[in-house]
Amino acid sequence: MGSVQIVTTILAAAITAVAVWLAVRAVMKMTAVIRLGQPAPERFSDKGARTKTMLVETAGHTRMLKWGVVGAAHWFVMVGFIVLSLLVLEAYFEVVTPTGGLPIIGHWTVFGLATEIITVLGLIGILVLMVIRLRNRPTRPGGRSRFTGSTMWQGYFVEWIVLLVLIFGLLIRGFKVATDHFEYPLWATPVSHAVGAVLPDWSDGASVAALIKIAISMTWLIVISLNVTMGVAWHRFLAFPNIFFKREPAKPAGSGLGALRPMTSQGKPLDFEEADPEKDQFGVAHVEQFSWKGLLDFSTCTECGRCQSQCPAWNTGKPLSPKLLVLSLRDHAYAKAPYLLAGGGKDLTGEEKATQAQLAHLDVLALAEADKPLIGTAEEGGVIDPDVLWSCTTCGACVEQCPVDIEHVDHIVDMRRYQVLIESSFPSEAGVMLRNLENKGNPWGAPQNTREDWTKGLDFEVPRVGEVDDFEYLFWVGCAGAFEDRAKKTTRAVATLLNEAGVKFAILGEGETCSGDPARRIGNEFVFQMLAQQNVETLNEAFEGRDKTKRKIVATCPHCFNTLGNEYGQLGGEFEVVHHTQLLAHLVATGKLTPVQPVDGGVTYHDPCYLGRHNRIFAAPREVLGDSIAGDLTEMPRNSERSFCCGAGGARMWMEEKIGKRINVDRVEEAMATGAKTVAVGCPFCSTMLNDGVNGKGAGEQVEVIDVASVLLRSVKPEQPQGGKETAPIGG
Ligand code: SF4
Ligand code: SF4
Repeated sequence: MGSVQIVTTILAAAITAVAVWLAVRAVMKMTAVIRLGQPAPERFSDKGARTKTMLVETAGHTRMLKWGVVGAAHWFVMVGFIVLSLLVLEAYFEVVTPTGGLPIIGHWTVFGLATEIITVLGLIGILVLMVIRLRNRPTRPGGRSRFTGSTMWQGYFVEWIVLLVLIFGLLIRGFKVATDHFEYPLWATPVSHAVGAVLPDWSDGASVAALIKIAISMTWLIVISLNVTMGVAWHRFLAFPNIFFKREPAKPAGSGLGALRPMTSQGKPLDFEEADPEKDQFGVAHVEQFSWKGLLDFSTCTECGRCQSQCPAWNTGKPLSPKLLVLSLRDHAYAKAPYLLAGGGKDLTGEEKATQAQLAHLDVLALAEADKPLIGTAEEGGVIDPDVLWSCTTCGACVEQCPVDIEHVDHIVDMRRYQVLIESSFPSEAGVMLRNLENKGNPWGAPQNTREDWTKGLDFEVPRVGEVDDFEYLFWVGCAGAFEDRAKKTTRAVATLLNEAGVKFAILGEGETCSGDPARRIGNEFVFQMLAQQNVETLNEAFEGRDKTKRKIVATCPHCFNTLGNEYGQLGGEFEVVHHTQLLAHLVATGKLTPVQPVDGGVTYHDPCYLGRHNRIFAAPREVLGDSIAGDLTEMPRNSERSFCCGAGGARMWMEEKIGKRINVDRVEEAMATGAKTVAVGCPFCSTMLNDGVNGKGAGEQVEVIDVASVLLRSVKPEQPQGGKETAPIGG
């Protein structure tokens, strides 16, 4: 070993020792913080599906590749990071001797070839990512970007480190070529040979370059270890467990959410018949009341801003960004952690758990952080502003886009649950809706005995469950479908089409109450459970004696469809629920319904969030429209998985939209820009919001917003009176 190698070896060992010590400390700190969360035993089920999903989503980059060039570039950088870690390891042999290399595989040409290819592709990939980050920097002329609010220096730092590590890897190889100590043939490593051709014949060059490469890598490790909230770097490790522990691993990647998680206390679902607010946790009031998976979510955020770029609230000037919400929760959790780890925290009656002695040596900043209310205005020092919390439509666009499977909607609803159930703090205008749900069983407060009014004037009888036994489908009408004038037209259209196709169906009539979706999404789990239990009982009775495959329900409202199909199982109600567009598509495909007169004038389709993103039903409504209209469907730029919310979900239908641009107006402008004369929808709430938007723009005479079923009915029965345009206001 020469004198240069003695120095390079000592320096490499020293910086590595410091970096590894700091990294171990950082991992222990992160683990301790994540363990502060509540239990989530369900996350350990189905390990086979979890492993498969993790491998598919990481190795296949299933989310990222939806972003085209960025996804491909990131894939090469990720593969480069994993495979080229071997070359960092090899550098430790090269600081000792400039001709050194990895034992065994370091002599294989195939290893030389593979690492050469990955180095070159990794270089291209990181340069692409650097250009994209720069072009999207928040300070660029033209305003907001998906990186607005991200810690930009951290992104630049990580990218430069990757770039330099790759460059120094090539320099090490180049010095070996220049000194004639390179084992791989020219055909397998042409770039390394080209670099070697321009480097001097310096015998210590490889050792010095290896030391610099190690120093750069260890500087990265030291910096991220000193910044445990640096998700842009830590996600390289945390993404794997975060995806592994996602809540429904068997669902295909990018599958939105569907059901909300039940409300839990100590990891167990809460039953309101036994729950006690002095013993049980009702939603989330403090950051440590999220589950450990929630805290892992916050730690894993890469600050990429994909969620933010798709969020309807953010895109219309509301204060909510799902990314900034996650970052606020992360920063608060880590800043409060010293206090919690010292034994601090409030019990369920609000009393401090720690003794004075336990908190005596705590940093004043940690104590100040502990005092912050989780939900509160800037003046109150709150972590999350109430306007942020209540701006969410639970559309699921954030969850859909997040490359590391962060579950924003669950966290938002958990915080809403505490605000509603314990603090009674929510936008006051939604109180009327909740009272109506409790007292009248529907959000509008319409009399229950008018639930069947929509059947009046139909030229056939609509049977009720109990009057007939041999129905195939129970037609779940929903509150909008029964009480809201526009939606009643959809209900009548669906019933007419089912009757025309000879489908045996029956309704519950006055036996139906609200599915509970608005109560659950606003956070009132108590009212949700009350309504859901009642409906589950009614439905179980209606289907008594049938197995699950014969307990079929068709619903026109995607919110009911989602709640009945995905959430009633949590309360003992197992049904086969289809959306009316699915059933209608099937009836057309099997020849039971025949469109005869194409609807013309141009048609576009708005995907309802709870049908599309949350439940992956994109094709059926398009099939129905494809069979019913003249020419092709005109798609809006934001469609299918990337559809833009109408603004009504998450119980926002019953809250005023006071901040920023109205979401429905944004969506209507997009729809009108297609030039289509008909905007087809598959949800009564979307219909209301988009109709309001069209009328607000004074375009009510030019553009019509109607349900897919109504479009099909016009095509199947053109002679049938259609009842005019669906422009009536909400009314009982
Ligand atoms: S669910 Fe929709 S509105 Fe809510 S934060 Fe996510 S993207 Fe924004
Ligand atoms: S939450 Fe997910 S999508 Fe949003 S910034 Fe973080 S990693 Fe990106």
